[in-house]
Parts: sequence; structure tokens; C-alpha cells
Amino acid sequence: MMWDWRRPGGALALLIASLWPGGASAAAVQSVRVADGRIVIRFDAPVADAASLVAAGSREILVQVRGVTPGNGGTATGLVSRIRQSRADGGTRIVFHLIGPAVVGDAGFEAGGRELRLQLQPASEATFTAASEAGWSRYFPFSFGRRSRYSVSVPVPPARAVPLPRVQGDDRRPLVVIDAGHGGVDPGAISPQSGLREKDVTLKIARAIRDALLASGRVRVALTRGDDRFLVLRERFGIARRLKADLFISIHCDSALSDQASGASAYTLSEVASDKEAARLAARENKADVIGGLNMAGAGADVQSILIDLTQRETMNASAGFARLLGREARPLIPVKPVFHRMASLMVLKAPDMPSILFETGYISNPAEAAFLDSEDGRERIADSVTRAVEAHFARRMAVR
Ligand code: ZN
Repeated sequence: MMWDWRRPGGALALLIASLWPGGASAAAVQSVRVADGRIVIRFDAPVADAASLVAAGSREILVQVRGVTPGNGGTATGLVSRIRQSRADGGTRIVFHLIGPAVVGDAGFEAGGRELRLQLQPASEATFTAASEAGWSRYFPFSFGRRSRYSVSVPVPPARAVPLPRVQGDDRRPLVVIDAGHGGVDPGAISPQSGLREKDVTLKIARAIRDALLASGRVRVALTRGDDRFLVLRERFGIARRLKADLFISIHCDSALSDQASGASAYTLSEVASDKEAARLAARENKADVIGGLNMAGAGADVQSILIDLTQRETMNASAGFARLLGREARPLIPVKPVFHRMASLMVLKAPDMPSILFETGYISNPAEAAFLDSEDGRERIADSVTRAVEAHFARRMAVR
């Protein structure tokens, strides 16, 4: 595991933790206010990450802040009738009891990670329920350029034609495009213990898979990104489609509020999530474009036409077939979830004519698993699983023809 000393709060938190025997938290909740339709939570030291959840059933909004001790209640006005703070999941949970349905709008850190702001928006019961099903939204500080900024939104990147990456391997072989999840301004999930970033882990894993696939000699390979750059989700499968790829594999690391969650899984596209966890994952992974500043609302027509094309069952079946093969090959080599193959509405998988999977290689929020994912042994085992599954997949498709 690596420690990024540039992360604000990181070195300080470690120092204070070492000075306080018994693992006392580095920060405490200083104040909680609701005013002008906004929740403002102040801390006495920088905070590394937080998450919010809309709970329609109990008519509450929950905010979970890791590694922070609770303070006293808070000042409730407007949409919030009561505020409660308690210890939960290695940090503080703040519960905002609502007088009517509301969802969280713009949210993010300010004041160098010492303040978390969440905009409250009154909503219909239907929106309230839908937001509730989306699960936890996560907020973390990250910096870009010389400025350090605490927010989850950045300016819209200008429209651009993404140059096509280099394709390596024998021309007669089928093409596999490996997509390293996240990148550039979008760090993906961040290990709360070590500061390890999903975007760095996925890039190293993608390169290891490329090398293993090329060594097998059975396929051609291209990477959507070979360095630390930001791509919107449609550019990722767009690159693969322009290259006429035969298989698209997007590499990610999972994260959960509990540091015990463990195991790899694979997702294929469905407009209906296979379970709550799949719905939560879709909410989180699809957010990459929001982080990159792309307004998804403006992409309606394009996305709609792609959704219509999804009736092409063959692509979905081929994707599911590959996910099952990957499960079979990965199980003896790396930790996997009991149910390996799941379905979710994931933007990055929405190419209508190209079998696509999203491979969650394991949990970056689990310290042991994060170390495994970032190790050479871990990468080799993951690359081996993918290579075996790819070989079986194309052998099977050749046999059918
Ligand atoms: Zn991801």
C-alpha cells in the first residue's frame, strides 16, 4: 500500500492517531446547521470522506463521516425537524429527520475539508423513493492543478475527438479493449486507510491484463487510456466501438462504507438492477461523468437511442456468457463474491453491439484487499483470470461459427 503525503489531513490524521493511544479520532464534529435549504457540517480538522443516504422509509437523510467523533445535536430549521448524532461504522452518523420528501442536490467539501455542505431539495414522493433506492452518495476531497479544492464537480470539459489508442497484436485476431476505470480529475474510490486511488490501481491492472493477453497471442489488445487522463463514460465504449472491438472490459475497484466488504464481481448491462447493491454500484460508477462535469441531462437523445438498441439480446447474452466464464476462471485465483455475476444499468456498458463487462476486481475500502489489488501478485492473478476467460470466450465463439 502507498501513502500519499500530499493528501490534506492524511499525514496530520496519522500523526494525531499515533499521539492518541487507543486510536482516538483525528477530528470531531464542531457544529451542524440547517439554514437556507442547506446542511452545513463543520469539523475541527480536515475530513477524508463522507457519504449521504436518503432513507425514504424513515423520512430521513443520513450523513456518515468516517474517523470523526460526534458532537452535539444541531440546529434544525426548514425541511429538517430534528438532528441526531451518534457513533456508527468507525465514525459519526448524523441523522436529519425531514418534515417532507427531499433529496440531496449539490454537495461537497469546503474550507480545506473542514466543512461539508449538502443542498437540500424538496422533491416529489416518487423522486424521494428513487433517491432512496440509489443508495449512498460519496464525497471526498481531491485536488487538481495547483489549487486544492474540495468538491465533486469541476468545469465541463470541452467537446473533443478522443484520439484512438494503439492496437497491439496479430491483425487476424479478435480485439479486446481494456478500460482502466476513472482517471484524471476523477480518482474513483479512495482507500480511507492508505489514500490509494482507484484510478491508479485500475491503470496498473489494465496494463497487466494487456501484457498477459498479448503474451497469450490469441487476441489483439488496446487500452482506452494508458496514462492518468479523464475520459467520459461514453468516450470509453466509443473508443472500443470505433476500433470495432470484439470484447470490452472495464476495470474497477469496489468500495463500501464497511472495511470488511470483500471479493470481486462482474457486471453486465441490464436496465433493471439485479439487487440493491447493483443499483448502488450503478449510482456510484455512473457518477464519473458528473465528477468530470458532463451534464448527463443534455445527453438524453443519444442515450435514449442506445437504450432502444439494447433490445439486441445477442450482445447481452454474450456479455453474460463472458461474465460467467470470468467467474469460473477467477474463483480459484482471487477472492470473489459468492454471487459473481450481477446486472446493473451502467453507462460504460451501453454499447449496443459489443459484448461488455465491468469487472470490479475487489474492494479498495478493505485494507487487505487494497494491498492485494495494488500488488504484483494480485495484478498477475487478475490478469491470469481475464486471459483464461478471454481464451475460453473466443474459443467458444469460433466453435459456434
Ligand atoms: Zn469505479
